[in-house]
Amino acid sequence: SRLEKKTKGKLQKQICQVVLDHFEKQYTAELGDAWSSVRDVLTSPWCWQHALLLNRFSPSPGLESSLAEQGYHPAFPAALPYLPAAFRCYSRTAPGRFPAQKHQPGRLKGYYLLNAASLLPVLALEVRDGEDVLDLCAAPGGKSVAILQCACPGHFHCNEYDDMRSRWLEQTIESFIPDPLVNLITVSKLDGRQIGDLQPEFYDKVLVDAPCSNDRSWLFSADPQQAVLRLMQRKELSSLQFQLLRSAVKALRPGGSLVYSTCTLSRAENSDVIKLLLSSCSNVMPVDISGMARAVSQEFAFLSGTQQHELLVLPEKGRAWGPMYVAKLKKVQ
Ligand code: SAM
Repeated sequence: SRLEKKTKGKLQKQICQVVLDHFEKQYTAELGDAWSSVRDVLTSPWCWQHALLLNRFSPSPGLESSLAEQGYHPAFPAALPYLPAAFRCYSRTAPGRFPAQKHQPGRLKGYYLLNAASLLPVLALEVRDGEDVLDLCAAPGGKSVAILQCACPGHFHCNEYDDMRSRWLEQTIESFIPDPLVNLITVSKLDGRQIGDLQPEFYDKVLVDAPCSNDRSWLFSADPQQAVLRLMQRKELSSLQFQLLRSAVKALRPGGSLVYSTCTLSRAENSDVIKLLLSSCSNVMPVDISGMARAVSQEFAFLSGTQQHELLVLPEKGRAWGPMYVAKLKKVQ
């Protein structure tokens, strides 16, 4: 249609060439043939899909039937062992956006719009009722909300270092979580690298959804100078990620587990960081998540040949989720 052409034209213009050139070089070397189809999806925002995570604390009558009428289907198979019945996520192969709900003080929202791949780290964490949970890098709070759709932790600590994003996190929690449950949640504004020393052996589960190169949004940087700067500073992210992971390991009780995730394809920020952690911490072991990957392989496309404790979601047409890297580790007793 004319409108689609117009939107296409507008979005096409916004691709940041320096970023695309940089990715082209790096990801051709790292992903081989898989990169060109990933690139096609990442550079075609009109193909992008989104999913809706329903809020179990604010059921909207008629929402599920209206979603079904619009071609949405449950994104995760009901048979997943770690998926509670209350966890409802809908996705659609066709692109297009479902309207977002505005924040209204004192009113709970019915759903959260997201990239379906961002639920995989939450599912991999397998939080059970009563467990003490830390979300180390939590803003804007999508994964914190998703964790609370899965279980009711004993104590839930959501941390975000950045001041403004931390307020955003508080607003998300207020929009999705009802009063009695809110009392289980602590929001802090600490440097995640310090939490391990502040609260050693305190948590059963830790999510490290790390600051990373955001491939999808970097490709559309409006300011090329800022984009160049980001690309130059990219190397420093790996060391921040490693330090956040070290802190997460300290914060875990022996026997507890952590999930590390990023939304980049970059090996330096994904498997290299995990490899370094495994080789430098003798009390950390990899946890096999290949069963989960197999169970959701209808909805998600994964890079083949990764280790059993990790997965990398590669966006493809009709399954435009990701990029999302997930790894799971356990602290030994
Ligand atoms: N988990 C969030 C969600 O699902 O909505 C997204 C988290 S985002 C990928 C990473 C976050 O880490 C950013 O909000 C960033 O401000 C925060 N961050 C950066 N450095 C940090 C640090 N040293 N400690 C804690 N958080 C940090």
